Amino acid sequence: MSRVGRNIHVSVDRLRQLAHRDARPRKISADAGTCPKCDSHYSADEMQRNLRVCPACGHHFAVTARERMEQLGEPGGYVELWPELRAADPLQFTDLKPYTERIADAEKSTGLGEAIVCAELEVRHVPAVAAIMDFSYMGGSMGAVVGEKLARACDHAAQKGQPLIVVAASGGARMQEGTLALMQMAKTVIALDALAEARVPVVVVLAHPTTGGVWASFASLGDITYAEPGALIAFSGPRVIEETTREVLPSDFGRAERQLENGQVDAVVDRRELAERIGRVLHILRRPELEGPGAMGSPALQWAQGGAQRAAGAVQSLPRKVMDRIRPGSPDGEDPE
Ligand SMILES: [Zn+2]
Repeated sequence: MSRVGRNIHVSVDRLRQLAHRDARPRKISADAGTCPKCDSHYSADEMQRNLRVCPACGHHFAVTARERMEQLGEPGGYVELWPELRAADPLQFTDLKPYTERIADAEKSTGLGEAIVCAELEVRHVPAVAAIMDFSYMGGSMGAVVGEKLARACDHAAQKGQPLIVVAASGGARMQEGTLALMQMAKTVIALDALAEARVPVVVVLAHPTTGGVWASFASLGDITYAEPGALIAFSGPRVIEETTREVLPSDFGRAERQLENGQVDAVVDRRELAERIGRVLHILRRPELEGPGAMGSPALQWAQGGAQRAAGAVQSLPRKVMDRIRPGSPDGEDPE
């Protein structure tokens, strides 16, 4: 780590000076990048090892849905669900470009069929269903397919009795699908409600940014809600609000840390600790009765039974004096000795 920090601080400042003097940016290497927050220089390799978190300042870069699957589960260890679903264009919507063309472009640049990827995976050896959004596909916007895939993920998790992990990163409902996109808010809320009735836990991770119709529907309904540091979590972004109300908002408006203070999230968790954190929660929430043969020997149940025995043992070993005090009907404060 110390080697990393040294490289970063020295080289970037120096390079900036050199770039300034030559009036052209100095080439570092083909895969190099710069952190927009602290201007540190890093290699692509270094970035990947740090799960796309700046090793110097902790700035969280955007992560694709597939990268995120690998980060949360075991590498290469997820089975994608419903990758064949594609958006239709029922409104035959055209703005600067036809919607069909936008979809085709998004698929070409991201390699994804939609702005959400659903999969079966294991987080720290606990089987789960994951629904992970990808901001690089049309701003992670929610159209009919995103709503459908999320609803299916809920059904699938309920049927399997496995927890659902949702990672949100979205600008909100997809304009090009109009009211059909807005309807997905109701649809996803109902799907998560059914999951709650099935008593299956939902862990939501809010990545930058989670806004609009996604924040106003399923992304705010997790049993446990984590946010990545610095993520914007709001219905409207600060710029829109400032333009509308003509008021200046605090600089941390809608940011994860502020939303933690507001009680909207349970914890702000560094991406490098996320899988561990979710895995630990899933182990605690594990339902042994759903895990088939041999389930009675599950670690959670053993731990619980052990706890009852430990409590009984502790009571037995209390001094007689204390026992007499707490036993119903014993004269209070009287020393039996
Ligand atoms: Zn940085």
